[in-house]
Amino acid sequence: MLEFCDSEIVDSLRFHLRDLSVAFRFGEQVERVEVAEAGTITTLASGKRIAAETVMYSAGRQGATDELGLDNAGLETNSRGRLDVDEHFRTKLDHIYAVGDVIGFPALAATSMEQGRHAALHAFGEQVSSLGKMQPIGVYTIPEISYVGRHEGDLTDESVPYEVGLSRYRELARGQIVGDPYGMLKLLVHAEDRTLLGVHVFGTAATDLVHIGQAVMGCGGTIDYLVDAVFNYPTLSESYKVAALDATNKLRALDRLVR
Ligand SMILES: Cc1cc2nc3c(=O)[nH]c(=O)nc-3n(C[C@H](O)[C@H](O)[C@H](O)COP(=O)(O)OP(=O)(O)OC[C@H]3O[C@@H](n4cnc5c(N)ncnc54)[C@H](O)[C@@H]3O)c2cc1C
Repeated sequence: MLEFCDSEIVDSLRFHLRDLSVAFRFGEQVERVEVAEAGTITTLASGKRIAAETVMYSAGRQGATDELGLDNAGLETNSRGRLDVDEHFRTKLDHIYAVGDVIGFPALAATSMEQGRHAALHAFGEQVSSLGKMQPIGVYTIPEISYVGRHEGDLTDESVPYEVGLSRYRELARGQIVGDPYGMLKLLVHAEDRTLLGVHVFGTAATDLVHIGQAVMGCGGTIDYLVDAVFNYPTLSESYKVAALDATNKLRALDRLVR
């Protein structure tokens, strides 16, 4: 489930959805759906039978490229109708670009638009910087999820030393005012140079809050900036300061033991 997100955040979402009576059946295959006047019965290959009023299925997006005659230009798409592109969004033909959903992940509105702007600049020989990896991802579940930058899994795989700074909304005045006891903001901080490597937010206004971390990361900032910054009270933005203090305390505890 949402394998591109931080696993702790996904666990939180799963817990929250279960709390709202959502049942998950992972790794199952649908064998058949029977539709009757009074409702539907879905039978799974494992033998489970699920009664429901309605069945909705969602299988991801497909590129609507079938009828474009791309093969006439010498281009092929994959099984989802998608095209491969290089870092400038050029297909294997220098004069044909592709952006947005038709090139796959992240397939979001803001990134698609920015890819289009980059492709257009490149196509007309204008100066263009690299789009980079600093693109925020927003998932409009209830509660929302948003992140920018690296994941714990990536950093662990690459043996990058990092510390986690955590802030829970329920410990913030604004979190209590908005009544969000589950929300959290997690900072991933480089354990040596203290730069911000990733920001992961779960809860109210996650897709807005992430941009503070994005701006700090974009400017190469460290958690020291967040520790020293004064944030309006009561706000959810304050979670940055709380999480930065948490990471600082953990790093300091380590330093003291090493000395
Ligand atoms: C249900 C849903 C909810 C979403 N919610 C969000 C969200 O909250 N935030 C977010 O960032 N993203 C969201 N997205 C993703 C976002 O909509 C897409 O990533 C974005 O629209 C991709 O832009 P695009 O230009 O690549 O494709 P599209 O926006 O799909 O544009 C493609 C256009 O090409 C046209 N077209 C297709 N074939 C032809 C043809 N042969 N000739 C001429 N025109 C053609 C289509 O009619 C369409 O207008 C959501 C997507 C879905 C499906």
